[in-house]
Amino acid sequence: MNPAPKNIAVLGSSGSIGQSTLEVVRGLPREFKIVALSVNSDIVRLEQQIREFRPKLVCVGDPRQAVKLSARTGPGVKVLCGKSGLEELAQHKDIQQVMVAITGANALAPLISAIKSGKEVALANKEALVMAGSLVMRLASRHKVLIRPVDSEQSAIWQSLGDSGAENIRKIYLTASGGPLRTWPASKFKRVSVEEVLRHPRWKMGRKITVDSATLMNKGLELLEAMFLFGLGEDKIKVLVHPEALIHSMVEFKDGVTMAQLSVTDMRVPIQYALTYPRRLPNTIRGIDFYRLHKLHFAKPDLQKFPCLALAYQAARQLGTVPAVLNAANEACVEMFLERKIGFLSIAGIVEKVMRRHTRISSPGLREIMDADSWAREEVLRIAAGSKTMRVL
Ligand code: MG
Repeated sequence: MNPAPKNIAVLGSSGSIGQSTLEVVRGLPREFKIVALSVNSDIVRLEQQIREFRPKLVCVGDPRQAVKLSARTGPGVKVLCGKSGLEELAQHKDIQQVMVAITGANALAPLISAIKSGKEVALANKEALVMAGSLVMRLASRHKVLIRPVDSEQSAIWQSLGDSGAENIRKIYLTASGGPLRTWPASKFKRVSVEEVLRHPRWKMGRKITVDSATLMNKGLELLEAMFLFGLGEDKIKVLVHPEALIHSMVEFKDGVTMAQLSVTDMRVPIQYALTYPRRLPNTIRGIDFYRLHKLHFAKPDLQKFPCLALAYQAARQLGTVPAVLNAANEACVEMFLERKIGFLSIAGIVEKVMRRHTRISSPGLREIMDADSWAREEVLRIAAGSKTMRVL
């Protein structure tokens, strides 16, 4: 007899990772049952998902939308809303596993609530770890929760590590496709448009992360993520540009052996492994055709051309509240870039200024992290407003 399917919640179900998670679940109907879903604002998609998966609980960002939705879905579905709704959902007693696929800092509170209630946690969001990595990992170990990474690079490190601990690692190669601007000369960066940045050659992803992959801030955030997830110093993590994006990262052990994880660029691979760990289950995703693959390329990243990566290394050396400031300033800048309020180069320029103005706290609690986060966002607005009057952006 098959065991009962595992009850899961997908936080951020309308986003790119959320939708791919539902696709994985669709392919494994005996393994999983969707019990809860959450979206920020896309209730049209949420309603489709409710019809297909029949969850018990859903959560939306806006209270007015929640009222509308609950009038339409009837009594079978409990509709929660806002931050507190999301926290309530993440710790609900009927849920065994939580996929955290919300982008940005908003994932932190529901992640903590899932960990504290001892759920199995699959984590696709990187900002929460970047902001509050020490705190999150401390909580996870206290509640005996293994955080299963979904980010393809972290999943690759996790899979390559196997049962080995951090003490056996000599270094990690965190691979980077190089993003949509890898081959562009830096002289053209000043005028690069939102559309050009959003045209990623390898991965189809959400808008925020695609901009981050153009600035290489995405790799910087992943550097911080890897430090916390695997308990490593920043000096052991090397970013390696690998445009084919087939090797998702590698671990070099102290005996000189390197283990790598390879698969096609499809987020359903790391999503499925995070959900089914430690089992590997069949799916329809093809393998790599090595007979057709003639070459793989590798290069060192250019930190002058991509200063955001250098800023992330700086934050990784300083730690404390600095990664939270880096992350929040970047998130605010990316939003302004997408709204065409600042140019591409201003993302790194403003983040650097905000970091310089920040007074670091060395072992912050959650409150201090959240304060540093909001301070950094306000500082971005102040700098942008100031520069606008001086016409330098
Ligand atoms: Mg990644």
